[in-house]
Amino acid sequence: TLLTHWVPLQDEGTLLGVVAVFHDISDLKLLEKIRRDFVANVSHELRTPVTVIKGYAETLLGGELSANPERSARFLGIIYNHAERLAALIGDLLTLSELESGDLALEVTPVNLESTLNSAIALMEHAADEKGITITCSDQIGATRVLADRGRLEQVLINLLDNAIKYTPERGDITVDCSREGNMVRIAVADTGLGIPPQDIPRIFERFYRVDSARSRDQGGTGLGLSIVKHIVQLHGGTVAVTSTPGKGSAFSFTLQAA
Ligand code: ADP
Repeated sequence: TLLTHWVPLQDEGTLLGVVAVFHDISDLKLLEKIRRDFVANVSHELRTPVTVIKGYAETLLGGELSANPERSARFLGIIYNHAERLAALIGDLLTLSELESGDLALEVTPVNLESTLNSAIALMEHAADEKGITITCSDQIGATRVLADRGRLEQVLINLLDNAIKYTPERGDITVDCSREGNMVRIAVADTGLGIPPQDIPRIFERFYRVDSARSRDQGGTGLGLSIVKHIVQLHGGTVAVTSTPGKGSAFSFTLQAA
């Protein structure tokens, strides 16, 4: 962005010319805009579940509890779901701010990819089972060691598996694979899900960017999962990538140093 202003050059009332002054304010302006958008997004994301919780709680307090116990049970379920959404959002926000604070110390050690992946899968298995989705890991993973903070690597895998499950219809397949690229290892999580339209791909790692907000929220998404993934991978000196075909599936991958 260039800030432009024009300064007229005059000599006793006669216009001699005009000087254009340009300032490059792109970085500052952009940062300020990102910060403002972020605060607005956070407020919006927080407000929705709080409004829902308040509304249903008011209805219950207003007499619904005794008048209609069955409906009340349903309302309590809705209150619970929205409280969970709030908890997920606050958790992700804390993780992001921790990652961005700059004073986060990664505990990088040689990590066995298979055991880390198994811990991540164990946490996601229930959600996958409920949709009849299978998760398959390639044989290469067994022999692979990477330099990483184990807990953070597990979080990356959890977020990618979580998305793969959320955005894949019932009885789909998720495959985790890895391959060597020089002294790096590329780890890929592929699914047979909805896919992502090409025009959304460049923005998919931005905070709160979603292809379909309603669907993401329905699935309990915070819109922060991929930006957390990207942050963690970049802190490790790796990169993230995605390929996707709408209607067919997506593959999210990231690189880490081989150990
Ligand atoms: P969310 O909490 O919404 O899932 P993410 O940051 O994890 O937030 O992902 C951002 C958006 O990217 C999602 O809302 C979804 O539109 C899209 N997305 C992420 N992973 C996948 C996937 N495996 N398949 C299809 N779309 C995906």
